[in-house]
This record gives sequence, C-alpha cells and structure tokens, in this order.
Amino acid sequence: MAVSTSANSKSQDGAIARVLEDVFGLDSLRPLQAEAIAAAVHGRDALVVLPTGGGKSLCYQLPPLVTDRLTIVVSPLIALMKDQLDGLRLLGYPAAAAHSNLSPQEKRDLKRDLEGNTLRLLLVAPERLFLEGFLVQLAQLEIGAIAIDEAHCISQWGHDFRPEYRRLAELREVFPNVPFQAFTATATPRVRDDIVQQLQLREPEVLVGTFDRPNLTYRVLPRVDLVDQVAEAVQRHPDAAAIVYCISRKDTEGLAESLRKKKIDARAYHAGLDAKERTDISERFREERLHVVVATVAFGMGIDRGDVRLVVHAGLPKSVEGYQQETGRAGRDGLPAECLLLYSAADAAKWRQIMERSAGESGSPPDVLAAQLALLAEMQRFATRTTCRHAMLSRYFGQEYPHDDCGACDVCLHELEPVEGAHVIAQKILSAVARTGQRFGMRHVIDVLRGSRTQNVVDRGHDQIPTFGLLKDVAGSTLANFVDQLIDAGDLLRTDGEYPVLQLTMRSKELLTSERQAVLVLASKALEAKPERTRKSKRRGSSNPVRSSDGDGAMSEPSSDPLSEQLFDHLRSLRREIARELGMPPYIVCSDVTLEQMASERPRDEQGLLRIKGIGPKKAEAFGERFLRAIREFGAD
Ligand code: ADP
Ligand code: ZN
Repeated sequence: MAVSTSANSKSQDGAIARVLEDVFGLDSLRPLQAEAIAAAVHGRDALVVLPTGGGKSLCYQLPPLVTDRLTIVVSPLIALMKDQLDGLRLLGYPAAAAHSNLSPQEKRDLKRDLEGNTLRLLLVAPERLFLEGFLVQLAQLEIGAIAIDEAHCISQWGHDFRPEYRRLAELREVFPNVPFQAFTATATPRVRDDIVQQLQLREPEVLVGTFDRPNLTYRVLPRVDLVDQVAEAVQRHPDAAAIVYCISRKDTEGLAESLRKKKIDARAYHAGLDAKERTDISERFREERLHVVVATVAFGMGIDRGDVRLVVHAGLPKSVEGYQQETGRAGRDGLPAECLLLYSAADAAKWRQIMERSAGESGSPPDVLAAQLALLAEMQRFATRTTCRHAMLSRYFGQEYPHDDCGACDVCLHELEPVEGAHVIAQKILSAVARTGQRFGMRHVIDVLRGSRTQNVVDRGHDQIPTFGLLKDVAGSTLANFVDQLIDAGDLLRTDGEYPVLQLTMRSKELLTSERQAVLVLASKALEAKPERTRKSKRRGSSNPVRSSDGDGAMSEPSSDPLSEQLFDHLRSLRREIARELGMPPYIVCSDVTLEQMASERPRDEQGLLRIKGIGPKKAEAFGERFLRAIREFGAD
C-alpha cells in the first residue's frame, strides 16, 4: 500500500485538480468524491455509497489518470457501458469495454490496447470476467485498482441480487495485492456489511453519502383513476421526459394506449418486446425524440438521461431500495423533478403472489423469499405513512433527516386533506375489530363495515352485529387505506404470519373512549393539473423551498429570464443536432446543467466557455465553437 507523506499527498491533490479541470471540465469535487478519489489514489480499499446522480463514476474514472495505471470496472449493464465509453471518448480518455457482444475487430483492438498498456479504464461485464481465461490474461497486466459498480448486486439482502456477482469474491484470490473499491447507490446497513464481507474488503474506507435527494418532490396518492392521474401528472411537465413504471407487462401496454388516446405520445416498454422494438424505444427516448415511456422496471437501468422530470409508479414498487433507485432516475441533473406513487392496498398482495410463485419455480432458498417479503412490507409502510417522505427515506437508509419540513413532499406541502369525521370513522373501524373478536383480517372487517353479505360474514353471523354496514358509504379501497393509517399510527395492530388478523392495541382504547381524537387524511385527488414547465418552476428561486444539495445546480442562481429560457431551448436543439452527428445520446454531449449555465452566462469566447461546468478542452475543441456561435447569433437578434 502506498504510504503518502504530506508532500506527495499535496502534489497528488494538485494532480487531481488538474485532471478534474483539464479532462472533465469541472472545477470542484463533491464532498465524498474527494475522499473516494484519495482512497483510490492511495491504493486503499473503499466502499462508496452515494445516491443516484451523486457522481460515483468520477470516483473511479479520475484516479487512473493520476496513478497512470489501469482500473478494471465491473459493471452489470452493457447498455450503460456503451454510453459511458462514448462519454469518455469525447473527453479523450483511453477506455475500452469487454463484454460478450464485442465484434471481432473490437476484440482485436482490445487485445492490442491491453498488451500495449494504453488503456486506463476497462469496463467489464461480470460474466465476461470469468470466461475463457480472461482473468489469467488480466492477471498478467499491471492493474492499479478494481472498481465494482452496483456492488449491492452481490448481496441477497439487497433488492437486486445477481448470482453472477457472487463470483466476484474470487477476484480477491486472483488479485491479492490490488485495491478494491465498491460502489452502490442503494444499500441498507445490512447490505453494506454484506458487500464488505463478500468482497473481503480490507480496512475499507467506508464513505456513505447523503441519501436525501432534495430536488425530488415525492407524492403518494391512492390510485383512484389511473389513466387520469397519470395523464394529469405528465401534463404538469409538458415537453419533459417522464417514466411511468407498472408492475406487469400487460399494464404497460394498456396504460400507454390509454395515454395515447389522450394525445400523449407514450410508448410501452418491457422485456417481452422483441429486441428491435426495445432498442428503438430506448434510443428514441435517449435521443429526446420520445418523452413518455410506460415500462416495467426493465426500463431505465441502461438509461442515464439526466433530464427526466417525472417518475410515476403506477403500482407499489416491491422494495424501498427499488423505489429509491427508480425515482432516482428523475432529476439526475440536480434540477427539480417529481416522483408520484399511485398506490392501492391490492398491489402488495399482487407482489406477494408473484414472489411466492417465482420462489417456488426457481427453487431459491426460503430465506431469499423471506427477505423479499420483508422488503415489500417496508415499502408498504412507506406508502401508507403520512410523515415526511424525505425523512422516511433518509431513515430507511440509516440517516437522520435534519429538517422538520422538507418543502418537497405531499405531506409537508399539506396536500393531504384531513378527513371530516375521522374520529367517528376510526371508532367504527376499531369497534368492528372488537365485535368480531379480533380474529379476522382486513378484508373481512371491511366487508362487515360496508355491509357486504359475503359467505364468511353470514356464516359467522357478523351481519347481525351492530357495526354491520356502519360505513357502507365509504369505498372499500378508501377504508383499506384508513385501516393502514390506523395501523401506522399504532391504533390498530396487524399480526404477522400467513393469515394476518387485526387486533386492538393499548392506544385503541384512548380512541374508543375519546381520550384522544383520531386523525385520518385523504390524499386530495384535486392536485390540479397546473401546466407549468418544471424548469420555470425551479426559477421561482426563493419562493421554491427546494434545497440544492450542492452548488452544482443552476438552482443557486434563480433568474426568471425568458430570454435565457429561449436560449436554453435553442441550445438544447443544437445539442440534439450534435448528438445525432456523433451518433450518441444528447445527455452524453453535455447535461442540462451545462446548457442552463451557458444560457444564463452566455460566454463569448473559448475562455468563457471553459468556465462552464462540464466543458473541458476536448469538448470545447469538438463543438465549442458551435455553441458559441449559437449564443452570439442569439444575442444579435
Ligand atoms: P451516479 O453514477 O452516482 O449515479 P454519475 O456519475 O452519473 O452519478 O454523475 C451524475 C452527474 O453528475 C453527471 O452528469 C456528472 O457529470 C455530474 N458530476 C459528477 N461529479 C461532478 C462534480 N464534481 N461537479 C459537477 N458535476 C459532477
Ligand atoms: Zn416532507
């Protein structure tokens, strides 16, 4: 391990700063990036946990240019690799990828570059790593570090366990003296420990970033009318990218079609489509020719489009980790974005069925199923709670949330309507539970309250008790949501086990005797469709309580300047044009943050352009002049 004296550590700091500016065109590192890069440069093992959009890539891309040694990056997704490579090549960065789809020519180039030691980054798919003596070949090279991206895939406690990741533990034997750095966006403390153990990290530097994504506004609404609710949300973000996640393939097609009937150009995406159609949809989305995709979670993993302004979950996700990852695809550029979850209590039951069936079919060990069910229960809790969603998410990932009012969730924005007569409704629910002997599940209790003469109700004589039909005017799904809220508040208990039943708690008595008043909320359906442009809303500046996580976003300098708006749109189409010529998606050319800054600062020469975040010498040389010309011409109008 390299021991650094303070003198050489100073010169390394200098080298890091130079590479940052000269290659990446950035002027400062984000807090944990500095630590992660230092660890890599000093040859230390590390576990880096940063939320989506937090800037993990730079943590493994930068060090090899300082140490001048090759880093191997294990990454699960070929689509993502290709984008990353395109981006690196634009920066003049010597990088290559090894996966099973390489052409013979690409294979020859790779072999030549590896033998000539000209590469500084090699992206490898895990299954490729263990193929045909590839490891033996790599072991002969001088390797500076091994980076494992999406490291949570190694843990069965995580939400995205991939058996092929398990084998990465073998790497330690092949490369006993090479430092390992593991990266992930989603890891509970348990998964974190598992990663360290599985990869046998040695005294790793554990760097855990802030999980909160202050630029995201979270909303959870009962699903009343799916198509209308989704259409309304999409129309709140005209001309902006939106991803709508559904649980099943069939749902994606139905919803996309209904949206098209409402004149929203939406396309369905799922793993059952043929490869050509899938590629077509993801390319159109990446190239900004398609904005709304209705998909299963199969979509998005390989999509790094930074300007997604809306992520809708049309059904409950199966874990909070999954929810965090999918909503994480919104606002990666740091600008405001909305995450809407449309939830019905039936979703969880649907997931349980799917999980049990697939566990049965794949014959996976029972503790994998148990872990999945536990993750699902946490997600359900998140959806039915009515406390600040930013705070809940932070706590789930083991972090305190420092604000009382996030200003960016339906709870803190007071969008949840208090239910009139909530106390009496709660009393009726509790009394139905008591009168049926605390031996029945939610479905039965709701049947009794709504006056349904089901076989079960009649057989047990529950149509004769005084609570029968007391809440017949309340919809079953609303009642289920109320029961969930009472459980969340500790006013009712749902037992665990295969047949959970509702029971009273110590706190129930306080409500029944009116010592305490119950509060229930109704998510107001009337979130009026305000056709506002998200980018404009961000410029409301001080009136917008959304906090910026770091100084990166243009949010720090609110200016409601219609000219900059126009110039931004103009630059955005120029970016599209350049991307088309280069044959890569626009967000690889540069991000919205870069365009925003160009539009507001309007640099006049190359000097000025180089001061824009995300524009380094290579990009300035490749297409800087075209942006400058566009800005000049715009000013001349
Ligand atoms: P992650 O892999 O953690 O999801 P990325 O590595 O894709 O995040 O980075 C997200 C965005 O942040 C990218 O557009 C990247 O260029 C930008 N970024 C990363 N580090 C910095 C930095 N130090 N300053 C400004 N922008 C940065
Ligand atoms: Zn909040």
